[in-house]
Amino acid sequence: MMKIKQAVKDLKPYQVNDIEASIILNANETRNYLFNQGLTLDFDTSRYPNTLADTLRYSLSQLYNLNKENFVLGNGSTELLEIVVKTFTEKGDTILSYTPSFSMYHIYAEIHEVAYKTVSLNSDMTLSIKELIDADKQYNPSVIFVCNPNNPTGTLIPKTDIIQLLDSTDALVVVDEAYMEFANESESVVSEIERYDNLIVARTFSKAYGLAGLRIGYMIANTSLINTLFKVKLPYSLNQASITYGIKALEKKDDVSRFVNEIITQRETLRKRINNLPVTVYPSSTNFLYLKTDRPLDKKLLEYGILIRSFNNGYYRISIGNELENTQVADALKEIYYEKK
Ligand code: PMP
Repeated sequence: MMKIKQAVKDLKPYQVNDIEASIILNANETRNYLFNQGLTLDFDTSRYPNTLADTLRYSLSQLYNLNKENFVLGNGSTELLEIVVKTFTEKGDTILSYTPSFSMYHIYAEIHEVAYKTVSLNSDMTLSIKELIDADKQYNPSVIFVCNPNNPTGTLIPKTDIIQLLDSTDALVVVDEAYMEFANESESVVSEIERYDNLIVARTFSKAYGLAGLRIGYMIANTSLINTLFKVKLPYSLNQASITYGIKALEKKDDVSRFVNEIITQRETLRKRINNLPVTVYPSSTNFLYLKTDRPLDKKLLEYGILIRSFNNGYYRISIGNELENTQVADALKEIYYEKK
């Protein structure tokens, strides 16, 4: 008889919101600004791509001033994060993280029958690194996921705190820097990969590069960790189109930094307008804002054609769109709170 693995039976799939809306601000994507003239580059579709995505690895190594052997590329960092769980945990092990954070860590733990333990963020959404270090001692996890800056709260964990964690644990520490381009790069721990043999940094082209549809993610670590990940990664998971456009995207460094600055400006403009409302808005080092309110904001904003992400207990996350979208969000919020009631 057909059998479903016990660990999968009650699993809730990753929530993807397919609701129709004219302004889509629920998934922290950004617009296609690097290739908005259309995709015109040529690439070979008849042969398998280089399974290491070696040419793109080389471009990344130039960007970071590292060796290409320090990189593994995959079909979004989503794929690579699971490979970490497959590679570094056994059934019955423990993964440690904090809550709220990126929901996929927990889903991978469940699929691979690994316990998932968390500490709670403080009420201002900061992390007590001491609590995380204490939890590491208590649970002895194989892997610790540190999302920095954190999704969904937008909070930046100081680099000195992560160093403190690295100095005190033998677990594999995976620092997910999907949003680091929007924060201060000096807070990144990429510079520490040779100093700690238990550190992996995850990055993506889905946020600051506006290429979520191409599915390009990568991890940076010492070569021994990278080679171990390659043992488990599916061959050819990064396709030729993604490799070709990834290389081209890295040639557009100035466009990327201009765009990142524009998003930060928009984020702070929206924050100022939300600050005038009876809503708690948390500091953000990302391309989204995390809010708390007693109104059903997702439903209210959908009446204006605006899709945002809702969480339990009155928490919401709004991705930062372009100037027009942000004005529409701010105007809608003002109406919701002050005009229509
Ligand atoms: N990490 C975090 C913290 C994210 O928010 C996301 C996207 N929602 C990812 C990883 C996955 O990104 P991708 O697979 O598109 O590279």
